[in-house]
Amino acid sequence: MSEARRNRLAELPAVEQVRDGTWVVPVPIPDNPLHYVLSYVLEADGGLVLVDVGWNDPGSFEALGAGLGEIGASVADVRGMVVTHIHPDHYGLAGRVREVSGAWIALHGLDASQITGRYSKIERLIEDNVLWLTGAGAPAEDVEVLCDAGAELQRYVMVAHPDRVLSDGDRIELGGGRALDVVHTPGHTVGHVCLYDAPARLLFSGDHVLPRISPNVGFHPLSSADPLADFLASLRKVGALGSELALPGHEWRFDDVPARTRELAEHHEARLAEVLVLLARGACTSWEVAQRLIWSRPFDSLAPVTRRAALSEAMAHLVHLRTRGEVRCEPGPPDLWLVGRTGS
Ligand SMILES: [Zn+2]
Ligand SMILES: [Zn+2]
Repeated sequence: MSEARRNRLAELPAVEQVRDGTWVVPVPIPDNPLHYVLSYVLEADGGLVLVDVGWNDPGSFEALGAGLGEIGASVADVRGMVVTHIHPDHYGLAGRVREVSGAWIALHGLDASQITGRYSKIERLIEDNVLWLTGAGAPAEDVEVLCDAGAELQRYVMVAHPDRVLSDGDRIELGGGRALDVVHTPGHTVGHVCLYDAPARLLFSGDHVLPRISPNVGFHPLSSADPLADFLASLRKVGALGSELALPGHEWRFDDVPARTRELAEHHEARLAEVLVLLARGACTSWEVAQRLIWSRPFDSLAPVTRRAALSEAMAHLVHLRTRGEVRCEPGPPDLWLVGRTGS
C-alpha cells in the first residue's frame, strides 16, 4: 500500500454527499486497524435512514451526531437503520441510536438469530469455541487465549433485537419512489446483506466487497458449514447486479464492482491452491496449515483476535476443499487434513 493511501486510511475522511439524498458519515472505531466505519445517510420519508452505524462507544456516537449535524440533521431525525451484518463495528451503535430517535432497526434473520448467543448469553459460545480450537489442533495455552479473544469487543455492542427481520429480495421503501433491495450475501457472516438502489446503480456493500482488503471468511462455531462456498456465490451474485458504484463499510468508494469481485474470488482460488501444496507435503492440523500460510505478519505474532480470524480463514479453505473433494479430514481431536477423497 502506498504511503498516501495508508495516511488516507488513518485519517477520518470528511462527511460527503455521494448523490442526491445520499451522504457518507465516517464513524471512528478506535483501536481498530480499519480506523472507521462508513455510515451512509439516506433521505427518507419523514427523516433519514442509515446503512450501518458504527460501534457503541461515546466517541463514535458523538462523531455520528456531528456528521449528521454537518448535513443539517441530528440523531433524532433517524427513522430507520439497515445493518449489513452483526459485527460490532456495523451493528453495535444501532441500539443507542434507537433509544434516542425511536428509529427501527433492520437486520437479516440469520444474523438476528445470533444476537443472544453472540452478545448476551455467551457461555455456550465459549464451550463451542473450546471444542472448535481443540479440534483445530491449537495448543492448550492458545485455546485459552483465543477462546476469549474478541470478548472485549462486546463492550462496543448495545444488544438490540431488530424491529424488522430481513430476507433476500425484500424491498425497503424510503419514500419518494426510492427503495433499497436486500441482497443476501452470506460468507463474511451468515446473514450479511448488501443493499442495492437499482435505478441509481448504487451498491451498499458492507464488508462483503471492500476495495483493498479481502474480508474475513472464516469457519468457526457461528459460521455455516462451508462459508467460502457461500462467499464465492455471493461474489457472483453481487458482481452480476450491474452496479456502477460501491459504497463499502470501510476504506473508500469504488467502481467496477465485477472486477473487484473477480479479484477477491481469484485471491481465494490462489489460497486454496496454497493449502493444497501444504497438504501435499504431509497431513496437517488446521492450526499447522494456518501457521504455514503467509499472512500480513507471521501467524504466531498476530494479536489473538487476528490469529483466531486467520485460523478460521485457513479452516474455511480446508472445509471448502473437502466440499470440492480434494481433501479429506480424519476426525480427532485434533482433526487431521490429508490430500485426497475419503476412502482413496
Ligand atoms: Zn464485518
Ligand atoms: Zn466491518
